[in-house]
Amino acid sequence: MTKKQRLAIYERDGWYCFCGKPIDSALKSPDPMSASVDHIYARVDGGTDDPANLRAAHRKCNSSKGRHTGVLKERRQKRKFGTDRNQPVPQPLRGRDGQRLT
Ligand SMILES: [Zn+2]
Repeated sequence: MTKKQRLAIYERDGWYCFCGKPIDSALKSPDPMSASVDHIYARVDGGTDDPANLRAAHRKCNSSKGRHTGVLKERRQKRKFGTDRNQPVPQPLRGRDGQRLT
């Protein structure tokens, strides 16, 4: 991800973190209050670098959140692949008269 792409995210979000507080554009990494780009869906969970999946965040808000959800999501995924094989297959959408809609 280029510096230009990051700046576009900060500008789009008005230099506000998801915690609700403004981000000081003068601060530089590794200052905990400096700007960083947060992945709403972590990359390990299939999240992409698409701007729709990115948001401005303080470095400290980003890293503390990222580490926690990363671990949780990893655990959730293991559970999913381990036990969900007997889940019923989702049925196709049907209209009121029983006709398939798709
Ligand atoms: Zn923040």
